Amino acid sequence: MNITIIGTGYVGLVTGACLADLGNNVFCLDVDQSKIDLLNSGGVPIYEPSLKEVIERNVEAGRLTFSTDIAASVAYGSIQFIAVGTPPDEDGSADLQYVLAAARNIGRHMTEFKVVVDKSTVPVGTADKVTAAINAELAVRFPAASLPESESIFPTFSVVSNPEFLKEGAAVEDFTRPDRIVLGAASDTKGQQALAAMRQLYAPFNRNHERTRVMDVKSAEFTKYAANAMLATRISFMNELANLADEVGADIELVRQGIGSDPRIGYSFLYAGTGYGGSCFPKDVQALVRTAREYGQTLRVLEAVEAVNHDQKQVLVNKVFAKYGTNLSGKTFALWGLAFKPNTDDMRDAPSRVVVSALLRAGARIHAHDPVAEEEARRVLALDLADAPDLLENLQFVDKPIDAVQGADSLIIITEWKAYRSPNWAALKVAMKALVIFDGRNLYEPEVMKECGMQYLAIGRGSHS
Ligand code: NAD
Repeated sequence: MNITIIGTGYVGLVTGACLADLGNNVFCLDVDQSKIDLLNSGGVPIYEPSLKEVIERNVEAGRLTFSTDIAASVAYGSIQFIAVGTPPDEDGSADLQYVLAAARNIGRHMTEFKVVVDKSTVPVGTADKVTAAINAELAVRFPAASLPESESIFPTFSVVSNPEFLKEGAAVEDFTRPDRIVLGAASDTKGQQALAAMRQLYAPFNRNHERTRVMDVKSAEFTKYAANAMLATRISFMNELANLADEVGADIELVRQGIGSDPRIGYSFLYAGTGYGGSCFPKDVQALVRTAREYGQTLRVLEAVEAVNHDQKQVLVNKVFAKYGTNLSGKTFALWGLAFKPNTDDMRDAPSRVVVSALLRAGARIHAHDPVAEEEARRVLALDLADAPDLLENLQFVDKPIDAVQGADSLIIITEWKAYRSPNWAALKVAMKALVIFDGRNLYEPEVMKECGMQYLAIGRGSHS
């Protein structure tokens, strides 16, 4: 099939590359000329395991192209995926300007039936807005709009909701082995025609068993928000309990295992830490809260989830201040992990940004390591500290984890990269000025830390502090 992907970011690029890998011909559009130039010169703008290889082999096979040519992109695909960003607006609602701009472009150039797929995470009701945006453009092109549809010379279309559930850091794996494929389609003829095309496209994923969940469009749009809201809730729930565990002297890791063994609860997404970040949970929780308000409802649980997460990003900073006071001049901190989670260079809403800013503003020096996010970290931290750029001189990036701890008063762990799981403790002890670890990911066993002579300040492990 011929597919167009509108928006070549995390979701669009992975979707395009993986669909090309199945034998489809894929045209990836973006408005960002530098991103398209980079892709056309063999570069990949994001870090995602195995993505570069998938892109390379499909570009070489002639199945994957990158362009900024809007008219060509609309002409190309019988299926048009909209995978542009939906960042939070000032009031927390999803900003649909990029989605609607993409829709208008389709309406401006389409000449035959198109399946228009909302792949971006969009609030309930967006498919109707996309439909209206395309129709408005068609009405400009075909002003004699009075003919009944059966006699119409208009090219027609139908909007399908197909939210994406991939996780950054495992995006290719998630896309190619999805737990489920949600398809929301209209019940009319065009909707069912669009649904048939989507079923055909995704058929290779359903060979082992049927993964497709077909539903109406609004339920599909809602499903994506409900999934992220549930996962964010589990994280904030555990973080709040972890803070209590610190006070009462319980170990949240033991509690996690104690409750996770109940199949009704399960082990996933129960790790206490420094709060969730990334491009999805923070904005999607906010957007759902905002949607509810528009309908006169208050989502009290989710409002609490967000408030807990906001505070949790401060937890490591508070622990540092509790130990050293709020004036950190003369102190040097090693920092392991900057990306919002392992296996990605995404720094959007990363907890590390809160920690780095707070420590630098308190006068500290930081030696930071991240296996892939250094470049992106430099970019976003410069924005975060735009009011005090001189402080960035106290932030040094290093190539190896061990280089970060050299002469450090303590080590702070923010992202649970594999490379940090089993450090050479003997080398660490020699390199560090003082044996103190603030662990925002509970990577180590407190007993082992004790034997190493480390003061170990983790999240919710109160029975060991
Ligand atoms: P992104 O910011 O990485 O990429 C969006 C791209 O769209 C950018 O390259 C931008 O230049 C381009 N763009 C904007 N307007 C355009 C237009 N009119 N025409 C063509 N290109 C245009 O965003 P992302 O992380 O890929 O997220 C995209 C959507 O998918 C969001 O709604 C997000 O919530 C959702 N989503 C993201 C993830 C994730 O892990 N990143 C997972 C599931 C769903």
